[in-house]
Amino acid sequence: MVAFLIGWEIFAVIALAAGMATEVVPSNVDWLRLGVLAVCATAQIQLTRRQEERRRNRLSAVHIDLSGIWIFPAALVLPLYLTLALLAIVRLQRWFNSRRAPHKFLFTTLTWGLSALAAQRLFRWLSQDDLAHLDHANQLRLFLVLMLVGVSYAGVQIIGIGALLALGGTSNPTLRNVLGSKSDNLLDLSTIGLGTVGAILLVNLLPAITILVLISVVGNRLAEINQLQSEARTDAKTGVFNVRGWTEAAQRSMARASKGEHGLAVLMIDLDHFKWINDTFGHPAGDDVLRMVAQQLDEVTRPGDVIGRFGGEEFVVLLPDIEDGAAQTTAERIRVAVADLHIPTTDKRGGPTTVTGRTTSIGVAVYPAHGSTIDTLLQAADAAVYEAKEGGRNQVRVATDQQARGAATDGHGTH
Ligand code: GH3
Ligand code: MG
Ligand code: MG
Repeated sequence: MVAFLIGWEIFAVIALAAGMATEVVPSNVDWLRLGVLAVCATAQIQLTRRQEERRRNRLSAVHIDLSGIWIFPAALVLPLYLTLALLAIVRLQRWFNSRRAPHKFLFTTLTWGLSALAAQRLFRWLSQDDLAHLDHANQLRLFLVLMLVGVSYAGVQIIGIGALLALGGTSNPTLRNVLGSKSDNLLDLSTIGLGTVGAILLVNLLPAITILVLISVVGNRLAEINQLQSEARTDAKTGVFNVRGWTEAAQRSMARASKGEHGLAVLMIDLDHFKWINDTFGHPAGDDVLRMVAQQLDEVTRPGDVIGRFGGEEFVVLLPDIEDGAAQTTAERIRVAVADLHIPTTDKRGGPTTVTGRTTSIGVAVYPAHGSTIDTLLQAADAAVYEAKEGGRNQVRVATDQQARGAATDGHGTH
């Protein structure tokens, strides 16, 4: 990773130096355009500072920055010096409200410079068009050229930053974390789309570019909503669904199950004597156990299974499309897998220790035998957990028909 980082940075510096050496001297109009872009970028950055701070503290590894709205038009229209000057203005301001590691910050900045250079050269090579005197006969071709240049601008950034993340810049290099989620990339594309509009305004109707400030501020809000939506469904401590997220996903599965002939089961998993872990090793150790158990649940279940954290030390797993008897087998596999965990953590004095042999009491409720709604299934599974505790813990219990009837009468269940 370090070799890639340094190699890429050296390459970027050389390419940018070579690019500047062959560049024309900026005209007065260029300086004016730079001034307008710098004012717009500054307004956008300052108006969205709070949101950016909140966004940076979130889990997602790829961070999309909307300043491409200003850098991209600069790359297409201005001499390279001025594009890099704008980049410096943008990045300096970002520096003051980002708490990122300096080496990553420098890497990102150089990658942006490189992508601007690539966009500029590709545009000049593909098109001799003067954006100020558009040829009406060639509009479709110019539009396609602009899109292609935009994609390559984004491509250089995705390759550079994605490679860094894949090589160890993130603790969890999944495809989604490395290349960004669908909505991250959609945001990236719309940033470049606005940048294209910005380039045309920059040379044809300079004052109108201020409209883009408004749009970019709104865009920033939308990007935040996107992240908040997924956070509202996630348990921050363990990364699995919280009650809300799990229930939503479970309801969708239930709707499918009640239409077809597929089964469905709910497992309620309660860690035995969890309070003892907190009392013996402290709460941070308890938290580590919760995290590792959640991770283990993810590993020993199928991709379509839905895992949630229900209460303090209670997890629920929904098993869609499950066959008769398989729910109990899965529950048993989970019980064994958790008991096998060796969980590295710290004791009350902060010294290293390992927690092992954690047992669980698991209740199983199957649709439609033990309930016909998620609520009644949960009640039946919960009652089965209680039976497992009574029976001496460290065991799996399937809900009985009596429990199912009890759940159906005191809940909203129908049979
Ligand atoms: P049982 O075998 O009967 O389930 O005993 P238990 O100790 O697991 O159950 P009890 O309900 O008595 O205690 C649950 C404990 O879980 C109490 C609470 O302090 C702890 N707890 C709840 N949420 C968290 C959390 O997020 N982190 C930590 N470290 N502990 C938590
Ligand atoms: Mg409990
Ligand atoms: Mg417990």
